[in-house]
Amino acid sequence: MPESLGLVELTRTLVAFETINPPGNERPCAEHLGGLLEDGGFFVSYHDFADTRTSLVARIGGASDTKPLCFTGHIDVVPLGAAPWSVDPFAGEIADGKLYGRGTTDMKSGVAAFVVAGLNLAKDFAKGPGVVLVITAGEETGCEGAYHLAGLGDVLGEAGAIVVAEPTSNQPWIGHKGALWLKARTTGVTAHGSMPEQGDNAVYKAARAIGQLEDFDFNIARHQVLGKPTLNVGSVHGGLNINSVPDLAEVGIDIRTILDQDHAILRSQLTGYLGEDVELESVVDVGGVLTDPADEWMQEVHEIMTEILDGPPESRTAPYFTDASALTPAYGGPPTVILGPGEAVMAHQTDEYCLVNKIGEARDAYIEIASRWNAR
Ligand SMILES: [Zn+2]
Repeated sequence: MPESLGLVELTRTLVAFETINPPGNERPCAEHLGGLLEDGGFFVSYHDFADTRTSLVARIGGASDTKPLCFTGHIDVVPLGAAPWSVDPFAGEIADGKLYGRGTTDMKSGVAAFVVAGLNLAKDFAKGPGVVLVITAGEETGCEGAYHLAGLGDVLGEAGAIVVAEPTSNQPWIGHKGALWLKARTTGVTAHGSMPEQGDNAVYKAARAIGQLEDFDFNIARHQVLGKPTLNVGSVHGGLNINSVPDLAEVGIDIRTILDQDHAILRSQLTGYLGEDVELESVVDVGGVLTDPADEWMQEVHEIMTEILDGPPESRTAPYFTDASALTPAYGGPPTVILGPGEAVMAHQTDEYCLVNKIGEARDAYIEIASRWNAR
């Protein structure tokens, strides 16, 4: 597909920047994108939430009473994992219509697609509401870059609708749950393992807490779109060696919430439920998002994607959370669609790939969505 070569090349270039988070080091990747966008007529600003942890905001247009359309994506990627890869994770190898590498699906292909769409339309945007591209660092560790931008005041500007280019195989998904990740800590007194009566075992306390967590009842009605909240104990660490009474244990808890749940209230419920032996610390705290499928713009996106996908798209929500948790509230709650070229099941996997034809399809979808928005 010669017409999409530039797009695939850009995706491969982005994959070649090693932005594994931690440590992230997104700055060189952000500056590469910023340079392309500046050359294309965008006004670009960079914002670091920590050293080399660079997000960027690029805008163009604005000659209208309508707010611009926002496209967003992150440029950090998750670690490679323990299993060996059968391809070089940063080379962007292409075989059988698949582009392989860490971040191909999640989500450098999506970022490349909206950047190329934006550059294609740059001239038109000058005469309409235009677009704002929010490209973030640190998404994979709890939307750090997006929350940083949201906290900076004027940096994000305005947006009338948001496209989150996370992997959906180009299906327009309408929202996702929130996430509350907690670290539960128990403490005790260490002693020789042969004299446990001299100590106070933190692991026993953690084990009791884990049993309680398995039985925890959210006691909340099922949300008709998002379903039920969930709780999973994902990690347990306790003790230093086999022949000592452990004085510290930590349990990692991953809670996915529906829209009616207040995270602060939920956390204090859990604190009461687990009792005074357990101390809770929030590690990630992000809200859910959901747009009414009957929303006028959502209907327009649905119509565009019906045409492009050659059939009616799925009406569903994403299993993961996204930067929309930070950006949608920061923009005052505009309609938000999650729509990107990656394959959701390939995210974070060994031998991650994205289908090459989906990247061009996403670019075409973004061009159509942005053109119609710009004609408002
Ligand atoms: Zn992602």
